[in-house]
Amino acid sequence: MTVADIGLIGLAVMGQNLILNMNDHGFTVCAYNRTHEKVDHFLANEAKGTNVVGAHSIEELCSKLKSPRKVMMLVKAGAPVDSFIEQLLPHLDKGDVIIDGGNSHFPDSIRRAKELEEKGILFVGSGVSGGEEGARYGPSLMPGGNPAAWPLIKPIFQAIAAKAPDGAPCCEWVGESGAGHYVKMVHNGIEYGDMQLICEIYQIMKEGLGLSEDEMADIFDNWNKGKLDSFLIEITRDILRFKDTDGKPLVEKILDTAGQKGTGKWTGIDSLDRGIPVSLIGEAVYARCLSALKGERTRASKILAGPKKGGYSGDKAKFLHALGEALYAAKIVSYAQGFMLMRQAGDDYKWNLNFAGIALMWRGGCIIRSVFLGKIKDAYTNNKKLENLLFDPFFQEATSTAQSSWREVIAFAVGQGIPTPALSTALNFYDGLRHEMLPANLLQAQRDYFGAHTYELLSNPGKHVHTNWTGKG
Ligand code: NAP
Repeated sequence: MTVADIGLIGLAVMGQNLILNMNDHGFTVCAYNRTHEKVDHFLANEAKGTNVVGAHSIEELCSKLKSPRKVMMLVKAGAPVDSFIEQLLPHLDKGDVIIDGGNSHFPDSIRRAKELEEKGILFVGSGVSGGEEGARYGPSLMPGGNPAAWPLIKPIFQAIAAKAPDGAPCCEWVGESGAGHYVKMVHNGIEYGDMQLICEIYQIMKEGLGLSEDEMADIFDNWNKGKLDSFLIEITRDILRFKDTDGKPLVEKILDTAGQKGTGKWTGIDSLDRGIPVSLIGEAVYARCLSALKGERTRASKILAGPKKGGYSGDKAKFLHALGEALYAAKIVSYAQGFMLMRQAGDDYKWNLNFAGIALMWRGGCIIRSVFLGKIKDAYTNNKKLENLLFDPFFQEATSTAQSSWREVIAFAVGQGIPTPALSTALNFYDGLRHEMLPANLLQAQRDYFGAHTYELLSNPGKHVHTNWTGKG
């Protein structure tokens, strides 16, 4: 019997929660999982009393779906996705939709979209962000792929997505082919950057200012009421306040070795491939790599010299304000770099990326949600062809206001020997971008000197010349 509005494959935490979310919004879902017992268990427990139906084979799943069929997968990225596509194909008709909601790498989604288009099947690769809580009560959804699929899935996707404070769903069509998973990848990279920036601020507060966790929590709480209002600032406040059973802050007892699953690395590699300086995300990934070298750092801490630490002798309240400004300015640079990368990918792949829509999608439901993203949405709504986020009048003004504080914070950290890779690279990018003349003239001369790579003159760009720098024949 054809009863279900959508089929969902994959009954781990994300799949189960998305099904229950869809059910809450009045959609009938047919659930399937490789291990069939999980279907029965889900129907008898978490989905008990709902309209969710189950299937014990792919054939049964497809037979229960209304036409055109929509099947969403939330399974481990990689081979399982291709395997399910293969299994689905004999049971689908032209015009049916396959959605991959897992963390797939975008080149796989480009390939799948193309292969399925040739078979008349509409493929969608959708970023799903917000973790299990988001999946259950409102994720940020970033669908991209075959545009013909969008009207078919839009009512479901926009109903279950998180809502921005103005009620707009945090889900819009991102673009063609692998655009959905590309944008999700950049989202994750930006998440790495935001987290690293907050961690650097924490280290300055702790090591440079000698603040207690409760004092830091108060400052984050205060920041969360203003322009830095965001999920990550909020959870940082809560983490700093959290006490272990002995009454001491738990965070101080946690091993300082960070893990990673690879999406930040993908963003860094992709930015190098495209020649776009996404330096902040790169530094955030490297900071995790350095953190993982705990043994080497422990040995280095005993033998490598650092500056004499004097602490902070000035007006602490003023400096704390400067810290907030530095964090805000560096965050602006991070997003500017992320949007530069997406613009380049959009040009490279001829994706018609909707930048205001992307900012709106990230505005709620996901880890990087913040008030600040509303400003980015405004910037791209006001000017769809905005060349660089930093050129938008609001962000131009914000960085201009913050820049002296930003320099003061980094100068203090450098003087104290406190590492600030993300805060510093953001300022270096900012200063590099605002230099009409960089020292690459000398670099070109060096390249021409040793490799006859030629150079162009400022007075005659386009004409490549070579100089015999040594005068030797
Ligand atoms: P998961 O642990 O990544 O995957 C478990 C699901 O994949 C199960 O349904 C499992 O089936 C199936 N599976 C694993 N290997 C398989 C194989 N070789 N062949 C067929 N099926 C296979 O589950 P998850 O954490 O719910 O995540 C689902 C997807 O969403 C992943 O791509 C993940 O990266 C992405 N995601 C996760 C989060 C999160 O917070 N967890 C957030 C955003 C996106 P069995 O039950 O039969 O083993």
